[in-house]
Amino acid sequence: MKGTTLVVNCGSSSLKLAVFDHQYNRLINGLAERLGTPSAYAVITGNKDTIDISGDSTHRGALATLIKRFRKRNVLGLPPVAIGHRVVHGGEKFTDAAMITPAVIEAIEACASLAPLHNPANLTGIHATGELFPNVPQIAVFDTAFHQSLPEYAYLYALPYEYYQQWGVRRYGFHGTSHSFMLAETARLLNKKLENTSLISAHLGNGCSITAIANGKSVDTSMGLTPLEGLVMGTRSGDIDPGLFDFLAGKGISAEDLHHDLNHKSGLLGLSQQTNDMRTLVASADDGHRLSQVAIDVFCFKLARYIGAMSSSLSTLDALVFTGGIGENSARIRARTVEHLSLLGLVIDSDSNLNHGRLREHHIEHTNSRFPILVIPTNEELVIANAALESVRNAIAPPQSITTETS
Ligand code: AMP
Repeated sequence: MKGTTLVVNCGSSSLKLAVFDHQYNRLINGLAERLGTPSAYAVITGNKDTIDISGDSTHRGALATLIKRFRKRNVLGLPPVAIGHRVVHGGEKFTDAAMITPAVIEAIEACASLAPLHNPANLTGIHATGELFPNVPQIAVFDTAFHQSLPEYAYLYALPYEYYQQWGVRRYGFHGTSHSFMLAETARLLNKKLENTSLISAHLGNGCSITAIANGKSVDTSMGLTPLEGLVMGTRSGDIDPGLFDFLAGKGISAEDLHHDLNHKSGLLGLSQQTNDMRTLVASADDGHRLSQVAIDVFCFKLARYIGAMSSSLSTLDALVFTGGIGENSARIRARTVEHLSLLGLVIDSDSNLNHGRLREHHIEHTNSRFPILVIPTNEELVIANAALESVRNAIAPPQSITTETS
């Protein structure tokens, strides 16, 4: 199908757009931030000039301005053939991308209690693009969908079972588009079929999560009911002792305050007292700032511990894969993490690692390593574009059911 696909990732105060052609080449990216404030701005990636959108700093206003700029650059002269939206939480309802209908919007609203910061923002994006392109099919692509294959023993918390039955308290997992891209890329690089590919995928960005993928299916992942569980992140704590709530209540810190601090004042920022940005943190540690080094050490140890834990879900491993801003760019973090894993037989080659996998096409493992170690740049927008276009193609020509002979 010829034509372009628009990908929309709408946060509470930000908007990211990407446009792909029918062969999945990325044509342009746009970003708007601080929406709803007087300092709102938009930018076309690769262009230094910011666009003042303070006149109409709503999501709809930013979207209209960016699309107008795209058109000036001969992109989206015609409406796109599909619009793919990142939607963070699909609960247990969505195991795949879904064509957006009033019923799907209702279901996304119903999941909003599980992702109160994200799902309402995602819906804002859906409504804004719907107004701008009323006749173009819109498709929701869920962060949680890839992890719906988790076995019951991996998704249940050891809590009173009625919490799950009544309120859906279970582990859902996030970053599904990135982890599924790691699966596809690993299979391609190792020349294997998806359904025969098993890996541990570590997505390390501002948010961090790790997933065990066995024979093409997510079987364990570090994020849970919310994206707070699991690894140390930029400002998020990851795992903590649940007894902390009661302990700190005794010190006058309310559950609400602690929730805020666990999400916004913890992780690398909380430990280092300096920054949530890994690049700045590494520079600060090199300048001799002790707590910056401590934050890096805790980050790497916790990550290594999770890699070890993920191995209990796999019977074979085709690769350990690093991705995300930190995973793709920080040789130091990869090396420090893998140092903890000699018992698993994982060994990094320092030259390949320092070159971020470019020396030997994504590979950074030493020849003595028991398993390959790969660095693969993520491309979540491409996954969303692909899913959106596939949904439209299937809606036009539903896949033929294959008649098989029964014996
Ligand atoms: P993301 O959310 O995927 O954009 O990743 C953002 C994180 O990647 C931030 O903590 C950045 O500091 C980190 N990052 C990007 N480049 C580097 C680098 N060269 N070294 C260390 N961390 C980096």
